[in-house]
Amino acid sequence: MDASSADLPSRVRVVARVRPFLPREAAARQGEPVPCVSVLHRASAPEDEVTVHLKDQATSRNECYKLDSFFGQEDDNVREIFDREVKPLIAGVFHGCNGTVFAYGATGSGKTYAMQGTDELPGLMPLAMSTILSMCETTGSTAEISYYEVYMERCYDLLQEKPKEIVILDDKDGQIHLKGLSWVHVRSMSEFSEVFASGIQKRRVAHTGLNDISSRSHGALVIAVTTPCGAGSDAVVTGKLNLIDLAGNEDNRRTCNEGIRMQESGKINQSLFALSNVIYALNNNKPRVPYRESKLTRILQDSLGGTSRAVMVACLNPGEYQESVHTVSLAARSRHI
Ligand code: ADP
Ligand code: MG
Repeated sequence: MDASSADLPSRVRVVARVRPFLPREAAARQGEPVPCVSVLHRASAPEDEVTVHLKDQATSRNECYKLDSFFGQEDDNVREIFDREVKPLIAGVFHGCNGTVFAYGATGSGKTYAMQGTDELPGLMPLAMSTILSMCETTGSTAEISYYEVYMERCYDLLQEKPKEIVILDDKDGQIHLKGLSWVHVRSMSEFSEVFASGIQKRRVAHTGLNDISSRSHGALVIAVTTPCGAGSDAVVTGKLNLIDLAGNEDNRRTCNEGIRMQESGKINQSLFALSNVIYALNNNKPRVPYRESKLTRILQDSLGGTSRAVMVACLNPGEYQESVHTVSLAARSRHI
């Protein structure tokens, strides 16, 4: 990132991605199933803006929202999101600027697929790691990772033998420290895969009223890159890339949550709302950014705002109109207006 772009006010891009119909979903719909979301092309639209059109195939109800970009149903659109949205953040990390990628959406909308991917089609997390590792070779930089989750407004280190609660401290300069969080030096993709897989296993998952297993916590992989400043100097710069698989933004009326599930949902919705408020404040140059309203936004305070860059990927299920409207309307609300 050059000096001029570092001077620009922080901006969080808000984009959407719709996953393909799964084979069982396609089979349940006759003929060629039509996704509930597409892009309206407008001749006069600004270059960096798309109008996302949501339409309920059953009732023809429809709504439109403006976002920064849209990725369609093509099988491997994760790679395209990586090239267009994440690579520019990685370039900044090697210059000491922090970057953050959020996957946002309801359970089953493809967040984990987009972030973690599969063995055949890696998601944004492994794609970022392998790009960073090859850039480390040419720049002489080193990479370390941490992996934590925020569950019920508490932060847990997932790279320890047993997930351990991490205390968040503010120092006198307003810097945030995650006391005791593990950092693991990573030199190759096989080292990464091993460490990351053990962390993934520790994430809390539980059944909800929906038939899928839902992630009830925010999962954050952080890749910290330390880069030497150049010949004749011992100085280094450190930049972090945060890759976050957010908890599902469920609508409680649909999931029939009760008891602990209801409490979890309350906390999840509160923290997603707090995140959306922070992004809105940053994108609209508000004098006060409400970082302190949730654990996640507090932790990310040094990675949202200032010279940091971020992108929120709103993930959509092509067969769920109401749920997609819920996701896209919140995403559009956080965007610059
Ligand atoms: P979430 O994490 O939001 O709950 P998942 O990532 O688990 O959702 O995705 C739900 C289902 O959709 C999974 O079976 C996943 O494999 C599938 N899926 C998501 N995105 C894609 C895609 N681009 N191509 C094929 N299958 C996908
Ligand atoms: Mg998931």
